[in-house]
Amino acid sequence: MRNISEKKRVVIKLGTSTLAHKTGKLNIRRMTNLVRVISDLHNSGREIIMVSSGAVGLGAGKIGLPEKPKQTNIKQAVAAIGQCELMHVYDDMFAKYSVTVAQILLTKAIIDNPNHCQNFKTAVETLVGMGVIPIVNENDTIAIDELELEIGENDSLSALVAELSGADLLLILSDIDGLYSDDPRTNPDAEPIHVVEKITPEIESVAGGAGTSLGTGGMSTKINAAKIATEAGIDMVIMNGRDPEKLYDLFEDKEIGTIFKAAKK
Ligand code: GLU
Repeated sequence: MRNISEKKRVVIKLGTSTLAHKTGKLNIRRMTNLVRVISDLHNSGREIIMVSSGAVGLGAGKIGLPEKPKQTNIKQAVAAIGQCELMHVYDDMFAKYSVTVAQILLTKAIIDNPNHCQNFKTAVETLVGMGVIPIVNENDTIAIDELELEIGENDSLSALVAELSGADLLLILSDIDGLYSDDPRTNPDAEPIHVVEKITPEIESVAGGAGTSLGTGGMSTKINAAKIATEAGIDMVIMNGRDPEKLYDLFEDKEIGTIFKAAKK
């Protein structure tokens, strides 16, 4: 039996593939539906913290680049352009439901610095207490040191955010339905795995299998996020963000996506 209906503080991670078309332009229908359902979850009393990707993708789309840039200075610039666009869109769309949002940009250096990390926690707590939805992203314009400083993908970042903000649930919305016993696109017999009680080497090898790397981070970064979250005592769910209405089903404890159960202390 799932107990998602009991979760109060929820970190929702949205990937670029959920928010944007392949062109890098905003997926307006998806975003509109997501914002509506998330506003409703918020109105029902849940404390929502979002981790949203999309800065680089939307920035590239906005200035007409055919694909995400690889050159660091261009990536920095594009992230700055796209982050602005992203927050503008969220602010505008949530305003329709009278929900206030706030932007927090993180780097690994911030998380590793005890004072700055505490400032992050205080800010989240204060915003949530005000009934505001904080929207977190990595500061891709500044966190460019590929060796040390950057986290680089938002799956792991969302797990750290869940841990630091004392969440009960991390919900990763992606372009995959959940974890499968094999790659469902090449193996028609691949079975969905609804519950992962423990992240075993078998689970890791299933997730690392070829072809599961849809979205930016792929399944292996999601397993990494699951490890961080479950070790911190937080359940994590991966589900498809294609149909935001399914979030209602999830919070009614229906079997949606894959749940990774928090490690028992
Ligand atoms: N922070 C990146 C962005 O906003 C996304 C990283 C990821 O997709 O995991 O574009």
